[in-house]
Amino acid sequence: METIKKRLKALAKKSKALEPSPSEREKMLEKVRKYLDRFIQGMPEGKAYVAGKPEAGSLQILEEGQSLSSLLKIYRDQVERLGINPASGGHLGYIPGGGIWLSGLGDFIADVTNEYAGMYFGSPGAVTMEDELLDWMKEVFGFPSSAIGNLTSGGSIANLIALTSARDKMGIKADKIPVSVIYTSPQVHHCIQKALRIIGLEDILIRYISLDENHRMDVKDLRRHIEVDFQNGLNPFMVIASAGTTDTGAIDPLERIAEVAQAGNLWYHVDAAYGGFFILVDEKKDRFKGIEKADSLVIDPHKGLFLPYGTGAVLVKDKDAVFHSHHYTANYMQDAIQDDTLINPADVSPELTKHFRGMRMWLPLQLHGIKPFKACLEEKLWLTEYFRERLKSEGFELGPQPDLSVSYFWYPSKSEDQNVFNDKLLRALHKNGDVFLSSTVLDGKFVIRMAILAFRTKKETIDRAMDMILAALQKLH
Ligand SMILES: *Cc1c(COP(=O)(O)O)cnc(C)c1O
Repeated sequence: METIKKRLKALAKKSKALEPSPSEREKMLEKVRKYLDRFIQGMPEGKAYVAGKPEAGSLQILEEGQSLSSLLKIYRDQVERLGINPASGGHLGYIPGGGIWLSGLGDFIADVTNEYAGMYFGSPGAVTMEDELLDWMKEVFGFPSSAIGNLTSGGSIANLIALTSARDKMGIKADKIPVSVIYTSPQVHHCIQKALRIIGLEDILIRYISLDENHRMDVKDLRRHIEVDFQNGLNPFMVIASAGTTDTGAIDPLERIAEVAQAGNLWYHVDAAYGGFFILVDEKKDRFKGIEKADSLVIDPHKGLFLPYGTGAVLVKDKDAVFHSHHYTANYMQDAIQDDTLINPADVSPELTKHFRGMRMWLPLQLHGIKPFKACLEEKLWLTEYFRERLKSEGFELGPQPDLSVSYFWYPSKSEDQNVFNDKLLRALHKNGDVFLSSTVLDGKFVIRMAILAFRTKKETIDRAMDMILAALQKLH
């Protein structure tokens, strides 16, 4: 007994470092605050992209502890300063993320209190908070309150949950896989194909529907494909529309696709990971008509609500469809399962224990209210217009009028092959890095994309982008 006591005392002393004292905490918080102030303050003049990689071994795990100051310096030089700065307003590539400051505080509180958001029993408050967020999203997208949902790590897992539910509801088991058909746009996000492989539907038939000149799914072509497949004894079972494709920001004709899906008794899934929250902007609401008819819907608060990476959401109308694959019971969980009217997040997701990600969304929404988010989204739409106008006046060619805030352009070089020239132009822009743009290939044409969704993107950012583009153009000529 004495040896045990002695040993415990020694170990408690050694592990004490894991609980810093109030004054140590204060000092560390102050250092981190200063670090982040410098980070935020420096962003307007800083680069949005810097090529490079961390020095070998600089981030390696060492046996002995180091000071916070030296670790922050390592973080600044080896992490923060390299690659794309996704918190910067100058991030106009791919689909920009967010990183609002208040979410950081929400995460801080969530992490220190470490609420268990997987089961209602563990943290009724945390689960209720996430339910309220899901209820709010149901209302925004016209889903019934009986729909169920989950806050996921992002759009990919949200899509995975939705597609699994569709598979189970529609009874797509081994014998049916080779004759079952999914209909979608060739511009659908690649996480859909990935999810299909993960859930065992690799051998399913996928029909890529033709697009109109605005890159939206052609509903006539969709209808024709479904008819032919039915006639040939195949099993059409799901149509996947996008509300804002990643490549061009196109919103498929949601209402008309809903009618086709309903007529054929198909599961209707809408991936609105990028574009969904633009429904909050009054002038855009109409473009989303029909989204409420989806059986399942994916939205990414870490895109359209400017939250830090790690927050997606899925809504599904049919509870049993989701439960089929995700609900479970285990003997060791018996205390936690009391009331089967309550839905545990763990019954709706592959995750059991998870990050309590509700807090990073709840805190800013409640503290700021919804208005600043709406205004910021509307601002992104006007900035897209502004950027396009400026490009046009400098002789650039533009893609069609975008549905949302992703669009594309190219320079119609006369002296050189246009694809080669625009590829060179993009590389020059990356080398500069003031503002980060990405590219894509559409019908064999190399184009430069502009995706405006970072909350820090302002008119000044677009002016800076134009300065950068014009300087690069001059050098190439
Ligand atoms: C970003 C995106 C996804 C993938 O979401 P992650 O959050 O990156 O996992 C899926 N679909 C669309 C349309 C997207 O824009």
